[in-house]
Amino acid sequence: MSKHKPTAHYEGPGEFFDTHAHLYDRKFEEAGRTAEEILTAAKTAGVSKVLVPADSVETSRLACGFANVNDGRYGVDIYYSIGVHPHEAKTWCSEAEQFILERLGSDRDIRLRAIGEIGLDYYYDLSPRDCQKKVFSRQLDIAYEADMPVILHERDATKDTIDIIKAQADKGALRAEPGVCHCCSMSAEAAAELVKLGFYIGFDGPLTFKNNVKGVKLAESVPVDRIVIETDSPYLTPEPNRGRRNEPEYVPFVAARLSEIMNMDIEETARITFENGLKLYGLDR
Ligand SMILES: [Zn+2]
Repeated sequence: MSKHKPTAHYEGPGEFFDTHAHLYDRKFEEAGRTAEEILTAAKTAGVSKVLVPADSVETSRLACGFANVNDGRYGVDIYYSIGVHPHEAKTWCSEAEQFILERLGSDRDIRLRAIGEIGLDYYYDLSPRDCQKKVFSRQLDIAYEADMPVILHERDATKDTIDIIKAQADKGALRAEPGVCHCCSMSAEAAAELVKLGFYIGFDGPLTFKNNVKGVKLAESVPVDRIVIETDSPYLTPEPNRGRRNEPEYVPFVAARLSEIMNMDIEETARITFENGLKLYGLDR
């Protein structure tokens, strides 16, 4: 892509919820992009809510800090999650567990809305698989005990992920709405198993990429009341801005692509995915 192509901004109807954006990521600071700029641009595009997910104890602290400083400040409500990603599973220790349990205690921050990202990643295998499974299961237990939804990260580990979640359900330790499969890359058949267990399915920029046949098939298969939209900023930038740094202001492009696939107008897609986001994270409004 040419560096000189101007960035496309969404200027249409709809109110959007970016259910997954790592706004504490160093890439923003390196680019000299401030929270004020990011959130003002998001607001202009109709994005009024963003959830900032964590992937380690360190980023859990950063996500919390970002939400507490910026929530409501530029007209965008900010929520966050805490948790340890499969890449970081090898860093799990009693202090990490203690950190999470303390944050879920009686004086829980109202902006803390989920446990995640948690799950399994056999594509990168950055932590031993046994360790990934153990840390995933433990955090599923913690989430259940704290009555919190989870944000699942799964890559090339569909069978084990579903097996662990089913085991969780079998022992009666899975909420009726257990969480979201973020940036879901599962087959339509596998995702249907998660939907049956009450999960939401998250769609991102890759849905807008040409030739993403698998993604389109998945989107066609998921009931509309189970779909949420996300950016995974600063990664996975949707068309027409692919190749640039991603930001919440681009989440309407994901909604636009979903609208095409589902044959709905964008306002309806925005409204439904917004409400799904509220339900997913237990928000009134
Ligand atoms: Zn993410």
